[in-house]
Amino acid sequence: AAKRRGRNTLVQFRPSMALEAQAKLRNIEELRQAIAQQQFQLEYQPLIELETGHIFGVEALLRWMHPVRGRISPADFIPLAEETGLIVPLGAWILQTACAQAAAWSAKGLPPVTMAVNVSARQFREKGLQADVAAALASSGLPAERLELELTESAIMEDVGAATATMNALRGLGVHLAIDDFGTGYSSLSVLKTFPVRRLKIDRSFVHDIPADQDDIAITAAIISLARTLHLEVIAEGVETQAQFMMLKQMGCMAAQGFLIGRPMAAAAMAERLACDHASLTQR
Ligand code: C2E
Ligand code: MG
Ligand code: MG
Ligand code: MG
Repeated sequence: AAKRRGRNTLVQFRPSMALEAQAKLRNIEELRQAIAQQQFQLEYQPLIELETGHIFGVEALLRWMHPVRGRISPADFIPLAEETGLIVPLGAWILQTACAQAAAWSAKGLPPVTMAVNVSARQFREKGLQADVAAALASSGLPAERLELELTESAIMEDVGAATATMNALRGLGVHLAIDDFGTGYSSLSVLKTFPVRRLKIDRSFVHDIPADQDDIAITAAIISLARTLHLEVIAEGVETQAQFMMLKQMGCMAAQGFLIGRPMAAAAMAERLACDHASLTQR
């Protein structure tokens, strides 16, 4: 059936629309089942100090191990999880798992690292986030200051007043906050200084064409200098080449993350990496 929408706008019904709707319902059902059947895993990627190469933290990254389609990237299902609200129970599981992992590494005698966990816009808006964070800390025994929540600029800028209140409440629990993908959103520089965040993560789109692209170098330098002015720590994401690494170090960037330093890896591999890092530190 065709339906009139205003003047001269005719929306033609296409069979493909029904198929798309069906496919979406199937995807939602699959996602729901995946949560129930625990088809998710976390991988961990090292965060290093540029000066020393020391691993001071890891970022937890979600993977969906689909029984038929294999490994699915978060970019392909987080939007649907957001839309359906399934991100809330999934997010609680992520917090629990990441905190438990960090605590388990410490229990094995590995040096304490910061555990960075991504929090989506919807999760950040939901009332239960604080309780979920508190529960993950309590059940794992991880000290609150070892957990860092990564928020995106867009999630914060949606409603600056509400976001500031939420951020203050989270800080009140003792956890730290970072702004992820910095530079891609619309942070007003004037409010940035009022946010209780400790770190800016320079989006990897700016790092990608360093050192060839002068504009990207200028933007990255501006973010590094902004961070210094506001007494924030700064980390460059997506460092893939030695040239990027050297340039960032020269520019005074404090920290880096990327495939050059380490790909996201399973917990066991990350434990080995942490043990090596520790051994090399104690030899110095
Ligand atoms: P993000 O938080 O900015 O995470 C960094 C992404 O960059 C990860 O992609 C990581 O694998 C990738 N990456 C790291 N180093 C490099 C590099 O050198 N080159 C390139 N090309 N990529 C690099 P991933 O794991 O596919 O995650 C994509 C996004 O999905 C994340 O971006 C984050 O926004 C979201 N995400 C991942 N895990 C979670 C989660 O547990 N919860 C929520 N809410 N979102 C998550
Ligand atoms: Mg992140
Ligand atoms: Mg990022
Ligand atoms: Mg990103």
